[in-house]
Amino acid sequence: MDASGVAERVASVRERVDRAWRHSGRSHPVTLVAVTKNHPPDAVEAAVAAGVHDVGENRVPELADKVAQVGRSAVRWHLIGHLQRNKVRRALPLIDLLHSLDSLRLAQTVSAEAVGQGLRVRALVQVNASGEASKGGFDAGSALEALARIAELPGLGVVGLMTMAPFDADQGTLRRVFGATRQLWEEAGRQVSAFDAEVLSMGMSGDFEIAVEEGSTMVRVGTLLFGERQP
Ligand SMILES: *Cc1c(COP(=O)(O)O)cnc(C)c1O
Repeated sequence: MDASGVAERVASVRERVDRAWRHSGRSHPVTLVAVTKNHPPDAVEAAVAAGVHDVGENRVPELADKVAQVGRSAVRWHLIGHLQRNKVRRALPLIDLLHSLDSLRLAQTVSAEAVGQGLRVRALVQVNASGEASKGGFDAGSALEALARIAELPGLGVVGLMTMAPFDADQGTLRRVFGATRQLWEEAGRQVSAFDAEVLSMGMSGDFEIAVEEGSTMVRVGTLLFGERQP
């Protein structure tokens, strides 16, 4: 991994985030999560050298390998992909924020395991705001009710929402999907007492500026920083 190239691309993405953030008129800061999945551990080192301390992975074995190499102290580790229930035990001690609570059953498993490990897991509830069948998460209609139940689970600290936009959506669709998720996040913050509307995780390489304009507080960017992934 070419560390100076990564540093340049980090600077460029940060500039674009800042510009979109000024357009948004919002006051909360936006966190950049560097998504290093399918890249070697030196991608993480390059991100850290460029001043990025939030790193996202989508699979537990790869996350565990990278945590073993890089450690916990310089990096906040984000698990952004679907978490299989049989990987929960291994994942929990490794992560700082889980973005992908996509079912009540998973949330219950994570909570029970967290209690067993003496942890309280910071987590986001995933919303399928576009309604695409291929996407995980709660649809907009059921999300508030599910959130209320999940936020009460003792092993979880539910601190926000995450969504993914449709892959090749036009700008209008992206705005609608991100805007609807922001409204749900705000509404949940008002209505669900155990829910803390701190994090709104939305935006990837192809759509992060619109996500930030629509109120994202956390963008997850991989390809733009590290290039195309090897499958
Ligand atoms: C891979 C991935 C990303 C990053 O995608 P890029 O298009 O490479 O920026 C963001 N979020 C999730 C959930 C991902 O799986």
